[in-house]
Amino acid sequence: MFDKVLIANRGEIALRVLRACRELGIATVAVHSTADRDLKHVRLADESVCIGPPSSTDSYLNIPALISAAEVTDAVAIHPGYGFLSENADFAERVESSGFVFIGPRAETIRLMGDKVSAKNAMIKAGVPCVPGSEGALGDDPEENLRLARGIGYPVIIKAAGGGGGRGMRVVHAEAALLNAISLTRGEALSAFGNGNVYMEKFLEHPRHVEFQVIADEHGHAVCLGERDCSMQRRHQKVIEEAPAPGISDEQRHRMSERLARACLEIGYRGAGTFEFLYEDGEFYFIEMNTRIQVEHPVTELITGIDLVREQIRVAAGQELSFRQDDIVLNGHAIECRLNAEDPRSFMPSPGTIKQYHAPGGPGIRVDTHIYSGYVVPPYYDSMIGKLIAHGDTRDVAIARMHGALTEIVIEGINTNIALHKDLLNDAAFRAGGTDIHYLEKKLKAEA
Ligand code: ADP
Repeated sequence: MFDKVLIANRGEIALRVLRACRELGIATVAVHSTADRDLKHVRLADESVCIGPPSSTDSYLNIPALISAAEVTDAVAIHPGYGFLSENADFAERVESSGFVFIGPRAETIRLMGDKVSAKNAMIKAGVPCVPGSEGALGDDPEENLRLARGIGYPVIIKAAGGGGGRGMRVVHAEAALLNAISLTRGEALSAFGNGNVYMEKFLEHPRHVEFQVIADEHGHAVCLGERDCSMQRRHQKVIEEAPAPGISDEQRHRMSERLARACLEIGYRGAGTFEFLYEDGEFYFIEMNTRIQVEHPVTELITGIDLVREQIRVAAGQELSFRQDDIVLNGHAIECRLNAEDPRSFMPSPGTIKQYHAPGGPGIRVDTHIYSGYVVPPYYDSMIGKLIAHGDTRDVAIARMHGALTEIVIEGINTNIALHKDLLNDAAFRAGGTDIHYLEKKLKAEA
């Protein structure tokens, strides 16, 4: 096992990684910007290194500063968390060529799955169901593109191969708008992602977002840990996640698990990853793979009893997965609410000093957060300040426990989205389960 791990991230995920390292007897190095000296995990880490000014570009995205920090502290491996450099193949490559272990897949796998066109081709090859669309990137022949769209049927969506974070996409409802949409998306993609390749897909009108967690080691074992439903979204940002996904049958889960574990072996996957799908009318359609740990991993941990971060570190160290597919038993239901420092109406970020913080508790409640009374939420980063996760034997019990936790938790001094979560937990459609990805935005609009 590694002697020392550098955590190249901040906030709740940095703390989560630190806790997993501690349990494994691994020493930790925290890195932080000048705005993040008071982060909880910086205080708890064995060592800490300031890597630059507040701006992420100069700190958490600063590859030379991170590599130097690993060198001066004699770290053996680097955990990238999520966001920042976690899906940056160049970073993974630099980490490995500098003599450290990157806790994640190989750089070439990140690159393969980071380009949506190559990812989709790899999935088609592996027998994973994809959204019907163009075979690879679109060419320049207008007639050919018009023909293609007619074949797929409107509406279609034009997507950038290098896109991410919900950017670089354009829905086209009628033929008259197609060619212009292609050239606009191409131009935007080139300037935003440095890659002008775009592709075409059927636009699904009322899908749910259902994703599958996988983990693989370097000894030929890949296991699928079931699915999560993350359909409750605003501006492509997940707000509530749950596992299992309402209405997915054991048979569907089993079939997908088998295929995805096989796909992992085919692409030589190592570490934790997520296959994201749109789910409509009983069918799954692959949209992308995230080659890292995800924000919503705790719901899977609670229903499987598996510590994903610990397992991720173990396989990066070359160990075998500590379980096999047959060992996976799903137990009960788990729900996660992302807590954001933001105005409950305008959704504007609400940084500032947390004057009072009281954590909720009780059976089935887990709180993953770095905040404490007196902590100052800086204005420079993502507004997520933590995650509340509730587990119960049934979905209703998990919802009831989450409701209790949202009522108990006290965060004073800044605005948060706690009221929105309470409202959503009482929402009849959410309670029934299986709302689509447009539900939340429609609801917010209707109530505005
Ligand atoms: P990103 O990497 O930017 O998150 P994705 O490919 O995951 O891009 O797509 C982001 C979101 O865009 C999806 O969650 C979904 O809401 C919407 N989307 C993408 N492709 C389609 C499609 N073919 N039909 C309908 N919605 C889509």
